[in-house]
Amino acid sequence: ISFSEDDIELQDEIGGGVSGTVYIVEHRTSKLKMAAKKMRWKPHQEEQKRILMDLEIMSIQKSPFIVFYYGSLVVNDNVWLYMELMDTCLDKVLKRHGPLPEQIVANVVIATLNALHYLKSVHDIIHRDVKPSNILINKKGNIKICDFGISKQLVESCVETRGAGPIAYISPERLDIDMKEYDVRADVWSLGISVIELLTGKLPYSHCKSDIEVMTRIVQEPPPRLPEILSVSQECKRFIELCLTKDYTKRPKYQVLLETSEFVKRYMAVQVPVAEWFASLTK
Ligand code: ADP
Ligand code: MG
Repeated sequence: ISFSEDDIELQDEIGGGVSGTVYIVEHRTSKLKMAAKKMRWKPHQEEQKRILMDLEIMSIQKSPFIVFYYGSLVVNDNVWLYMELMDTCLDKVLKRHGPLPEQIVANVVIATLNALHYLKSVHDIIHRDVKPSNILINKKGNIKICDFGISKQLVESCVETRGAGPIAYISPERLDIDMKEYDVRADVWSLGISVIELLTGKLPYSHCKSDIEVMTRIVQEPPPRLPEILSVSQECKRFIELCLTKDYTKRPKYQVLLETSEFVKRYMAVQVPVAEWFASLTK
């Protein structure tokens, strides 16, 4: 669909994070409800052109594991990104209902790996912000990711990017000041951390007193593991170990994980009732 500012009715606020605020909006004529992310930005003319070109890329992406992107509008000092409205994000599920069962986490892993692999291999995009609040779910049981890179330039040219998001998801190599470039494997690490959080309800390093302490531990300590007492399969533990390989040059990329991980293979072979599980939460 194509639309202008006047075609859109602003409804409720859903939430806000580091980069902007998300609202429910409705397209007046079609009654289509969308999620709209508002970000403040003041780019230069040239930069604006480049960013809008990057946003074009988002509009051609097609994957069942990525939220559909309807388009964007620049209004005054704000850029609005319009996307498919999902029911909630996994961060909120976790906070309201506690840890997720292994089979649901497995489905999250499969969706996320597919989405990230698609973005990289087809569009050469690195997500850079993998965490439960960027993994969305709906009543149909679809699991989809959002907020991929929203292009690095867009985020950097936003007036209000309040520093970085939570530190705990960041891989050791991203904290190495001598490393100028990092690759998709940084997101593999973040996925491993997210899996621990989804299974336990807690982020590793949640006991730390400051961001500096978190960063120091990420760099200096062995990678986080699940608590021994938690009953999850060996395959699942092994998957986390693989994602949290400290030396990123030895950490597997998406395709290897999708094709060789026993955890992934085991749950790809069965139909996990995600929709039923989601419905049971809201009862
Ligand atoms: P963050 O991801 O850092 O928490 P965001 O500004 O990206 O902050 O998102 C804020 C909240 O809006 C998220 O926690 C999520 O629950 C919600 N949200 C974002 N995009 C959508 C969407 N497409 N559909 C439904 N809810 C969304
Ligand atoms: Mg987000």
